[in-house]
Amino acid sequence: MVFIQEPPHLENTYLSDRTLQSFLRRHIPEDARQEMETSLSELGELAAGPLRDLAFEFRNAEPELIQWDAWGNRVDHIQVTPAWKAYKRNAAEQGLVATAYERKHGALSRIHQFALAYLADRSTHTFNCPLAMTDGAAKTLLTHGNQSLIDRAVAHLTSRDPATMWTAGQWMTEKTGGSDVGLSETVAKKTENGWALYGTKWFTSATTSEMALTLARPEGNPAGGKGLALFYLEIKGSDGLANNLHLNRLKEKLGTRMLPTAEITLNGALATPIVGLDNGIRNITPLLNVTRTWNAISALASHRHGIALARDFARRRIAFGAPLSEKPLHLDTLSEMESTFQASFQLTFELVRLLGRDEVNESTEEEQRALRLLYPLTKLLTARKAVANASEIVFCFVLMGVTKGFCWIIRDFLSIRTEQ
Ligand SMILES: Cc1cc2nc3c(=O)[nH]c(=O)nc-3n(C[C@H](O)[C@H](O)[C@H](O)COP(=O)(O)OP(=O)(O)OC[C@H]3O[C@@H](n4cnc5c(N)ncnc54)[C@H](O)[C@@H]3O)c2cc1C
Repeated sequence: MVFIQEPPHLENTYLSDRTLQSFLRRHIPEDARQEMETSLSELGELAAGPLRDLAFEFRNAEPELIQWDAWGNRVDHIQVTPAWKAYKRNAAEQGLVATAYERKHGALSRIHQFALAYLADRSTHTFNCPLAMTDGAAKTLLTHGNQSLIDRAVAHLTSRDPATMWTAGQWMTEKTGGSDVGLSETVAKKTENGWALYGTKWFTSATTSEMALTLARPEGNPAGGKGLALFYLEIKGSDGLANNLHLNRLKEKLGTRMLPTAEITLNGALATPIVGLDNGIRNITPLLNVTRTWNAISALASHRHGIALARDFARRRIAFGAPLSEKPLHLDTLSEMESTFQASFQLTFELVRLLGRDEVNESTEEEQRALRLLYPLTKLLTARKAVANASEIVFCFVLMGVTKGFCWIIRDFLSIRTEQ
């Protein structure tokens, strides 16, 4: 008999997560919690089963950019993987964005929504990326109150129907930089058809989205961030054809390879100013704050996922006559990861709680100040801890680390985004 190591098992991601359950018990009244738990345990089951199976089945699949059709027409079509399509269906049906906007549980709806996002995250590659930007776009449009754009897009962005749900992109980074976006070179020209944008966006994820929020400098505006304006654009124009956009190439990335990230040239793409014709960076902040929150949720989910697998494995892996779970040094490693996870969890869900209160105007001035501070801090801290945790997780499985399947798990861990 040749020895085969039993692999770790992943259980229902909700029912096996005592930290989340205890947080909900502390913050959500009994009736509302019971209602939320139905959807949480349903999604937890999918995440440990069919969604995870899809992730494994398509772990090496990548999107493909088809620039020309057989007859010489420029088509710039991105063919996404079957898993990516399934993740979009799942996101709509499970209300991964919608739950926050339906506000069934008032201020607590954000906790419900981000608990769902957290449970699904590790089993859906990086579909959280388009969802983060979709959520951020809905919030930005609602914040600025541009009624015609709200009427046009928000119902799609927050839909539970896979056939009508849209996702959104966030096109900021240019060759000049991603942090220092005030250097952006994209120009907005007023034409008889409306505003037309010219420039190159260097790193745009979720390029298969139906719409995007982007920054451009209206002609004659001063240099720097204040001279940029925030625009809404649809990927296809009103005639159904590509909106004067060229996809130059898909980016060669170390991780997040199922996520289509492209470099795009805007060659007169028609776009609508969302709020005024300047202060674009300030005006896109609602989107940045929402995507920072999603980033923290993703980091937290990867942290939790690693611990869940490592703990389960420790019970199955026998070395030197006993399971790893009985070795004091190994337990010390696991408990250190667990305590960092606990801290990251409480920080992230406190941010989520405050966000929910802020959105229904229930927060105090002090809570508003705390919220502002927590957005960047939580994103930074949770991402750093999750990356360090990924390294520890590798050591928990080190014997198995040579196999390809395992390498994929690690690549999955390292997919924490480094965006704004
Ligand atoms: C997987 C992935 C997906 C992405 N998707 C998108 C997308 O959808 N849309 C989009 O617009 N962009 C996207 N980006 C780009 C991303 O937003 C930028 O890479 C990011 O904002 C950093 O900008 P930069 O690459 O120009 O680095 P820089 O801004 O040049 O930063 C380089 C280093 O300098 C540090 N630094 C920068 N400014 C300061 C400062 N003032 N003080 C101290 N240190 C500083 C940074 O922390 C970093 O360590 C994506 C990136 C990745 C990796």
